[in-house]
Amino acid sequence: MSNNIVVAIDGYSSCGKSTLAKALAKNLHFVYVDSGAMYRAVALYFLRNKIDLNDHGQVNDALKKIHLNFHARDYETHITLNDEEVSAEIRQMPVSESVSAVSAIHEVRHEMVKQQQRMGRSKNIVMDGRDIGTAVFPDATVKFFMTADPITRAERRYKELLPKNPEITLQEVFENLAHRDYQDTTRKESPLVRAEDAIILDNTDLTPDEQLLFALSKVEPFL
Ligand code: C5P
Repeated sequence: MSNNIVVAIDGYSSCGKSTLAKALAKNLHFVYVDSGAMYRAVALYFLRNKIDLNDHGQVNDALKKIHLNFHARDYETHITLNDEEVSAEIRQMPVSESVSAVSAIHEVRHEMVKQQQRMGRSKNIVMDGRDIGTAVFPDATVKFFMTADPITRAERRYKELLPKNPEITLQEVFENLAHRDYQDTTRKESPLVRAEDAIILDNTDLTPDEQLLFALSKVEPFL
């Protein structure tokens, strides 16, 4: 049996999961895995290749042709899709708009979860997503469930996207987050739900440093 430490961080869209996950991983010298980036890269491949999401044959064939890799550098997410760096493109609106429908497909989840479990088998890791504490690592060492006020979340994400998307509006971002939360919490397979043993972290009024200190205090007993 392995005794590596797994920190699972789940929660709604844009409530600071990746900010916390990166800071924790950096502080603890753990590997950081952004599971959402994997679903986004699959969604990008499906968009580019016009895969019909209702056609299981097409979806299965496409999944066989997708090779994802993370390149650990400075605790940012660097992901390649068939050897092409797609880290920036997967954050654009077309992918954000289609990713929740893609991530609801059984075959897609099955493949991604398998790859995620492999990554956490022997190393100390921090992984963020929607089903990490419930489906990917139900026995994770520490689980966090993050939440924040929806307007605060939309404003944070808007500020982040604006430099690269000057056309974007706050309303558009707000609607995308609400839509993704709806799809993620109501889908049949591994919906976003708090694991019973997850620690709730509402960061509406917390600075990134404050949330890091809180999370560190929960992980440190296991080091
Ligand atoms: O975390 P991020 O917002 O980048 O994730 C994009 C989308 O990927 C989510 O809205 C959700 O539909 C999906 N996702 C998921 N399970 C995960 C991580 C992300 O279904 N573990």
